Amino acid sequence: MSAAPVAPAWAELAGQEAAVGQLSRAATMDSPTHAWLFTGPPGSGRSNAARAFAQALQCEQEDPAQRGCGRCHACLTVHAGTHADVKVMATENVTYKIDEIRELISLAQDRPSSGRWRIFIIEDADRMTERATNVLLKAIEEPPARTIWMLCAPSPADVLVTIRSRCRPVGLRIPAVQSVADLLVDRDGLDPALALFAARASQSHVGMARRLARDEGARQRREAVVHLPLRIQATSDAVALAKELVEVTQEEAKSSAEVRNAEEKAGLLRALGLGEDEKVPPKLRNHVKRLEDSQTARNKRSVHDTLDRAMIDLTGLFRDVLALQLGTGAELVNEHLRDELGSYAHGVTAERTVARIDAVATARRRLAGNVPPLLALEAMTMSFLPDRILDRRPGHQA
Ligand SMILES: [Zn+2]
Repeated sequence: MSAAPVAPAWAELAGQEAAVGQLSRAATMDSPTHAWLFTGPPGSGRSNAARAFAQALQCEQEDPAQRGCGRCHACLTVHAGTHADVKVMATENVTYKIDEIRELISLAQDRPSSGRWRIFIIEDADRMTERATNVLLKAIEEPPARTIWMLCAPSPADVLVTIRSRCRPVGLRIPAVQSVADLLVDRDGLDPALALFAARASQSHVGMARRLARDEGARQRREAVVHLPLRIQATSDAVALAKELVEVTQEEAKSSAEVRNAEEKAGLLRALGLGEDEKVPPKLRNHVKRLEDSQTARNKRSVHDTLDRAMIDLTGLFRDVLALQLGTGAELVNEHLRDELGSYAHGVTAERTVARIDAVATARRRLAGNVPPLLALEAMTMSFLPDRILDRRPGHQA
């Protein structure tokens, strides 16, 4: 990897040197490709990479090496989500509505109002219906001047081939635990041991790792989630703990949204040149309103995302158990619980551990399909019952 100086816009992308190299070069071109597809597993920072790229493209610095300086008005407003020429599309729905895509395309016909480019970031491009995709395809095939599309999806296969073939791919990978820990130490000044714990426990999800390292409440709520399977002794526990899981994640979603919303608002006020408690003058109020609207939309999705995160935590826990049972010697996600998990692993069969990993995956799919959370989770927590109870059940499989 080249050791070129990295502008602040890219600092968030831990362990993504290849993508950063590709994007920072593109940001200095006079006419970069007009359609991009960002792919990578959850937490790898697909939408962060798209935002960083947007920031570098709009940055006001003359020197190409400085693009994405993090200090100019364009950088600050893209970062705060309020730049007039950078529109980020996220949906709280299972799929995008075709009208939402049409609206974007009509906006794409306008010239940039202040920035160099008009940029559209579509998070979860995999949530577009085929009809919506075809509408977007037309816009990508006949690009209006100075418009750049950035699509994000878990993998290239999640987007129709007609779209994929017209986009330049940007592949993100899961960063190494140590890269995430280093980011938390270098950038946020966090304690190295705590940063390493958080990087591991979050399975290299940068946002989650930062939250775990900074917020003791978040750490406690995560501990409550991962201890859940260890506490289940009877059917009544399974029902009660499913309910507890819903409550813990709702609390976590609320607390996480509050912190993030406040940080974004402070960032916006700074970008507008206002002090923390200063009254917002009328002509700037629409900036604040726009941010608040996008936060409201995001809050709605946040409970679902937090529950999904809990499912990832539980999967990590059972993978740890399996690693101990099979004696793979792998480093555990929950290294801090090694002893406790060791004795749990001793009392159950590896087949059951695999079945529990499957049960978590099924619950996750059902939650994504909008099954009521409690219903999906109860079926899952039942599979966490001790082997001796499951063995007595008619038609049990083990
Ligand atoms: Zn800048």
